Amino acid sequence: MHIKTLIYSENTELALQLLGKAIQLSGAGVSAIAVDGDQASILVSSGAVKTYLVKDHSFDALRAGILDVVAKESPELVMFGSTKRGRELAPRVAAALKAGYSGDCFEAEQVDGGFAVKRLAYGGSTIASMMIKGKPTIISVPQRSFQKPETQGKQGEIIELVTSTPLSKVKVLESRTKKTTDLGLENAKIIVSAGRGFKKKEDLKLLEELATELGAKMGCSRPVSADLGWMDQWVGISGKKVAPRLYVACGISGTIQHAAGIRDSQLIVSVNSDESAGIHQLSDYSIVGDIYTVLPALTKALKERLK
Ligand SMILES: Cc1cc2nc3c(=O)[nH]c(=O)nc-3n(C[C@H](O)[C@H](O)[C@H](O)COP(=O)(O)OP(=O)(O)OC[C@H]3O[C@@H](n4cnc5c(N)ncnc54)[C@H](O)[C@@H]3O)c2cc1C
Repeated sequence: MHIKTLIYSENTELALQLLGKAIQLSGAGVSAIAVDGDQASILVSSGAVKTYLVKDHSFDALRAGILDVVAKESPELVMFGSTKRGRELAPRVAAALKAGYSGDCFEAEQVDGGFAVKRLAYGGSTIASMMIKGKPTIISVPQRSFQKPETQGKQGEIIELVTSTPLSKVKVLESRTKKTTDLGLENAKIIVSAGRGFKKKEDLKLLEELATELGAKMGCSRPVSADLGWMDQWVGISGKKVAPRLYVACGISGTIQHAAGIRDSQLIVSVNSDESAGIHQLSDYSIVGDIYTVLPALTKALKERLK
């Protein structure tokens, strides 16, 4: 049965992934919301039948615009990308519509009277399956949950959305951009990652040397970043979720919060001196040993092989 879906993400890559799923569910019934002309063109040429272009990107204008489109299109399912903005918008749109909502769903299938959705729970150790009833169902969806549409070159309609923005109860006094360095972990093909097994910051040189030989990006567990401040970003449920071809965990114990961020890795290699460390259970290859001897040996072996 064909159902009507509406998608929104200001991140075009994620919007395309939502579009891929919406096309699979809806066939021809996909509407989208775009935040600029380029994004609108990409979405209509990738299979969105109608793309509503919202010019005012303030939070209240977006929320009002999305509610307007929901009123026009009556979708059964509204999917938001799980970005900071998407996570803020989705529950507010759901509350305004008195609709069922679930965040960070990586699966959604139509069932009688609603949608069956799946999301991670308990720090990523469990999958929660839920049923949301009523119309519309509102969900937010993390990166890489769905595939982008295969067919290109379609031509939908772009409609400029004129919405009267409600007077906001919030007054923004000042905006400051947070300084962050994107380490490129989310799209990295190979990642070598440091945990508390490293005794001091200077010792990360061992990881850096291995990273150079492998052509890898460097990541770490949360305490190495958030507590010790040795790196800008960490991997895990509260940090970056990664999906490399190879993830090498060095001196990391493998708690559920870290594991939730690496579960999409194709191959996991662990180096940990404690044979009973949880990371070894998650790994395809386990090296029970001291990082201070194993990492230089690995780097040396790679150097010789690549000579
Ligand atoms: C709400 C919440 C969210 C969190 N989110 C995250 C998250 O997103 N990402 C994250 O990583 N953590 C997260 N954490 C923290 C998490 O619970 C763990 O504390 C953390 O992952 C442990 O980091 P670690 O493995 O580096 O350190 P530890 O658990 O201390 O492990 C260090 C490991 O190094 C090994 N080791 C020690 N010396 C050596 C050596 N010389 N050679 C080899 N191995 C050695 C030890 O055997 C040990 O297994 C979160 C916690 C909370 C409460």
